Amino acid sequence: MTYDALIVGAGYAGAVAARRLAEDGNQKVLVLERRPHVGGNAYDCLDQAGVLIHQYGPHIFHTNDKRVFDYLSRFTKWRRYQHRVVASLPRDNPEAVPARRDADGRLSFPVPFNLDSMEAAFGAEEGARLGVKLLDAYPAQSQVTILELRRNSDPEIAAIAGYVYEHVFVHYTMKQWGQTPEEIDPATTARVPVRLSRDDRYFMDAYQGMPLEGYTPMFERMLDHPNITVETGVDALERLDLADSAVKLDGEAFCGPVIYTGQADELFGFRFGPLPYRTLDFGFETLPQDYFQSHGTVNYTVDGDYTRITEFKHLTGQEKPGVTTIMKEYSRSYTGADGEIPYYAIINPDNNALYAKYKAEADQYPSLHLLGRLAEYKYYNMDAIAARALALADSMI
Ligand code: FAD
Ligand code: UDP
Repeated sequence: MTYDALIVGAGYAGAVAARRLAEDGNQKVLVLERRPHVGGNAYDCLDQAGVLIHQYGPHIFHTNDKRVFDYLSRFTKWRRYQHRVVASLPRDNPEAVPARRDADGRLSFPVPFNLDSMEAAFGAEEGARLGVKLLDAYPAQSQVTILELRRNSDPEIAAIAGYVYEHVFVHYTMKQWGQTPEEIDPATTARVPVRLSRDDRYFMDAYQGMPLEGYTPMFERMLDHPNITVETGVDALERLDLADSAVKLDGEAFCGPVIYTGQADELFGFRFGPLPYRTLDFGFETLPQDYFQSHGTVNYTVDGDYTRITEFKHLTGQEKPGVTTIMKEYSRSYTGADGEIPYYAIINPDNNALYAKYKAEADQYPSLHLLGRLAEYKYYNMDAIAARALALADSMI
């Protein structure tokens, strides 16, 4: 069998590009995937208790890109779901507002921090007063980043910024990145701003939801096309050979386009040194109860060694009385050890410069395209990757 295009990886990048090339470009596409399944990090499956879980971390779909939403909607119906997150933290002074103390003595409020969070944190009256002050300070904005808020010189606004920094951002960010909010890429904390409203949704996008039957069936349908061959459990690097600006597959010259969605450093044998990443350890627990927590995700923004707990039934809407599965996320440095997954690129000038060397190497191969969160060393959401995959495939048709 000869193929017109080769795609490495069957996550969002690989699957969306494969379908578009196969269907609209009438190209015969070979997709090689190292894992035993398709879907990349968005893969979901039933656990031993029959609860639908996300094996590689909680994935909630959201986008403002109508083309991406319409494209994916060909392969799935959607469950209407708007993600809401609360922070859970120990009270600074549990005696101060006894009437508002939770049963477990902890404080909880919406994240992104909003005007309701302010009232939970400072008390109803004081919180409302500070909320008005904040709205007056940023009259034309619906949100403000924590780093911007911290630059405000008004003493009361600075005190709010200090509170939010301490109770929402600094400890969580240290757990997630091993660095403070100032030390990491500002775009990262800007993903979770301070909201100048009572809107408690985690995402503001026009289209939000969960694939009705899960992500994996959506990927299976997307890849189900007569022009697409998917081989799972196959490490493409064992079959690919890159030398002298030419690509070989199984020892034979491969002249068609190659879309590579794995790690850029690994593709070139780490010749300039490994790119730094954060990895995650997931602690799954199945419990004999209907629900464990009030929200899909609870962020432990101050204490605890995990960043957040997700309870999948809230996300998926699965009705399964008497049992639920939760997942704790523990972040640490990626070492490259067997079985570790590089989940997050660590965006900073040094790492970007190292990545640029691999990109320049890839550019020596006219048929080779680096696409995706790993291959491009970026912090992309699912919709952004789908949009890039469509755009790249467009350019090849
Ligand atoms: P991946 O999903 O990583 O797919 C790459 C695939 O390539 C993998 O399956 C891998 O096995 C395969 N591969 C690599 N090397 C080889 C090789 N040599 N041979 C064969 N196959 C190979 N985005 C959202 O929009 N909403 C969310 O709620 C959200 N939550 C997230 C939570 C976590 C914990 C993480 C880590 C990410 C989250 N994301 C979320 C981002 C989302 O996971 C990515 O945008 C998306 O998975 C990127 O798709 P991709 O195809 O680029 O990469
Ligand atoms: N963040 C935080 N506290 C929170 C939520 C987020 O400090 O309660 C910061 C943290 O640095 C995190 C970043 O904001 O890495 C982005 O959060 P997001 O939820 O978008 O991360 P993801 O879901 O992609 O892991």
